[in-house]
Amino acid sequence: MPRNFCGLRLFFALMVALVTRDSSDAARDSRTAESSDSVTVVIDAGHGGHDRGGIPGQRVAEKDMTLDVSQRLRNVLSASGYRVVMTRDSDVFVPLPTRVAIANSYRNAIFVCIHFNATQRRSAGGIETYFYSRDSLPLASAIHRLVVGGAPSSNRGVRRRGYYVLRKTNIPAVLVECGFLTNPTEAAYAQTASYREKLAEEIAAGVRGRNSVASASFIDQTRVARSERHSSKHSHKKSARKKRSSSKRSGAEEASAQ
Ligand SMILES: [Zn+2]
Repeated sequence: MPRNFCGLRLFFALMVALVTRDSSDAARDSRTAESSDSVTVVIDAGHGGHDRGGIPGQRVAEKDMTLDVSQRLRNVLSASGYRVVMTRDSDVFVPLPTRVAIANSYRNAIFVCIHFNATQRRSAGGIETYFYSRDSLPLASAIHRLVVGGAPSSNRGVRRRGYYVLRKTNIPAVLVECGFLTNPTEAAYAQTASYREKLAEEIAAGVRGRNSVASASFIDQTRVARSERHSSKHSHKKSARKKRSSSKRSGAEEASAQ
């Protein structure tokens, strides 16, 4: 009896060791595959908290639309197997340097910044996608082509511009302006869940296809005055001034698009 018992114990110990080794090998293999193939997508929902985005008096808050599209984008990309990080996942204010620091803390990552546009001229509309570093052009081209293709809005083009979050990130980074919330038609679309889901799906398709879409020609706006860029110092005190400059910025963009 004792010998048989010992034999059984030895048998089970060997089985456990084999199973343990197999599962740890499998885990190591899958980790290796993930580290070489997987990409982290850092999603940046524009504005938040006291920073509504847009222009003074704007009815639909940009910060709510950007967060909703970003959360939908996270869900679509997660389902496709991407590791996703959100710079904000609720209605909070996150300073731009913090957003950049989050993005720059990941390797093998890309940064997708979600915004909606605004201007005093209600008829202004369309989709535009910004990048700064040349490494970001393929991602901007792919996302822009797909978002424009799936939207009722006009094509305002791919644009190169030194927005803070694009200049300071050291991974491929794009900023998508998903339409004008000051345009009645585009604001109505943006307020439907099905359209925001469509935007998320097209942006995700752009992320997936970023290495297989030809780079677009683009409008170079890198010489636009620094004061008209997205401010790097968001604060309560500066928010009013920032809003005024952002309405000027939209005007400048319209002029340069014509
Ligand atoms: Zn914005």
